Amino acid sequence: MTEGEQASNTAKSEELLSLEEAVRFLGVSRPTIYRMLSAGDLKGLRVGRQWRFSKDDLMTHMARTEATLGPRAQADAEAESGFFAQEAANLGLAMEEVDADAASPDAAAVVRLCSAMVRLALAMRASDLHLEPRRSGGEECALVRYRIDGELHVARRMPRRLLEPVVDRLKSMAGLDVGERRLPQSGRIPIDFGGAEYELRAATLPVFGGEAMTLRVLVRDVQVPDLGRLNLSDGLRARLDALLHCPNGILLVSGPTGSGKTTTLYAALQSISGDGVKTMTVEDPVELVLPNATQVAVNPRGGITIASALRAVMQHDPDVIMLADVTDQETAQAAVQIAMNGHLVLCQLHADSAAGAIDRFVSLCSDPYYPAGALIGALNQRLVRRVCGQCGAEAEATQPAAVRLVEVAGTADDLAAGWRRGFGCPACRATGYRGRAALYELITVDRELAAAIRSQASAEELAAAARAQGQENLAIDGVRKAAAGLTTPEEVLRVLGIAV
Ligand SMILES: [Zn+2]
Repeated sequence: MTEGEQASNTAKSEELLSLEEAVRFLGVSRPTIYRMLSAGDLKGLRVGRQWRFSKDDLMTHMARTEATLGPRAQADAEAESGFFAQEAANLGLAMEEVDADAASPDAAAVVRLCSAMVRLALAMRASDLHLEPRRSGGEECALVRYRIDGELHVARRMPRRLLEPVVDRLKSMAGLDVGERRLPQSGRIPIDFGGAEYELRAATLPVFGGEAMTLRVLVRDVQVPDLGRLNLSDGLRARLDALLHCPNGILLVSGPTGSGKTTTLYAALQSISGDGVKTMTVEDPVELVLPNATQVAVNPRGGITIASALRAVMQHDPDVIMLADVTDQETAQAAVQIAMNGHLVLCQLHADSAAGAIDRFVSLCSDPYYPAGALIGALNQRLVRRVCGQCGAEAEATQPAAVRLVEVAGTADDLAAGWRRGFGCPACRATGYRGRAALYELITVDRELAAAIRSQASAEELAAAARAQGQENLAIDGVRKAAAGLTTPEEVLRVLGIAV
């Protein structure tokens, strides 16, 4: 190094940075810097009323916080990324050479590990990746689990010492404050994989024993779902179409969390929206961009609640409104008012049956009279795992689960042939199932049911009244789909919560 260079380097390192510059330099937030200053984790200088930071102090801090692995952890990181890469290779996936532009070899090892872990999750069609500290029998580990077709699978128990470096790396990929470990944070990681664009919704949570992280996988630029491809039975599809073409009224779309009701709502909106129909949605968050709708995202921190967004939307003269998650009286009553003023309102609701959704919606309103007049129908759904296409084979109609399901559904259909089950193969990871499909039930509210709602009938009474009219329920849809070999009777009984 020449004398000149040396001099300029010294000058550079003595240069003092402002608070804003330190925020950018460390990639953390202002509150984190204040917290680190008060905890003595970071050295700063008071210049007048301002904080100033020397680059040397910031560098020292980074060297301390940026997970320095040490030789054992680095070897662990290499071994773990090798494990994930091998698993992916077993699925016929070539691991991309990750361009780890990190300064040190141990940081590069963590970059490779995170990439391999995420890519294996995508290759296995996981909907979520969960990373948590665990302790069992005195052994500590970093537990990696993937949710595939609705079921959690343990992908790996990694050495506990890898948890912080991996969480830090994922936080930095998601644009989060790496130094903030005491507050929950959420962000997004865009990722290209197998010719498709994905977005990982990342959320951190300080938990006992460390920091947990969950990555929810969303496919970007995914095609808007089509009602014709949702395996709705013909009869139910015709009744649903009739409801969607009502000029006004409330249609409830319900199911437990993760039952695919957002997909159904999007498909329903897509089927009726167009140049002649103004469709607006109030969502939290907007999960998919609809070509023919105007979508508003709820943002409680920014002061946009469902109720306030709804009031604003009504000033834009929509024909059809979709409301995500009705959970309070104000929103429920506003929906009733809007429906009575001549609009079609699709409301998403958490409930485990169509009748239960009606009951829940009415109970949110102060009086059953108006909702009874506004409700036109309630759709409810569940996701079941599909029989694996590779190893699925014919199964007996006399198997106990099939007999039990036919008995529960109480249908007179001839269901002797067509049952199937998977026996397990590499394609389904020996589970016998691959992919998912939905079961549906739809209650159309006619005069008789409206009268029952007005007289405060219970969910059971409403379900029985709908059934007596010939309206089919989840069990009937389930038994037909199992008897057609789409899924198994055990699976239908499981999601309906019925013992064999
Ligand atoms: Zn299989």
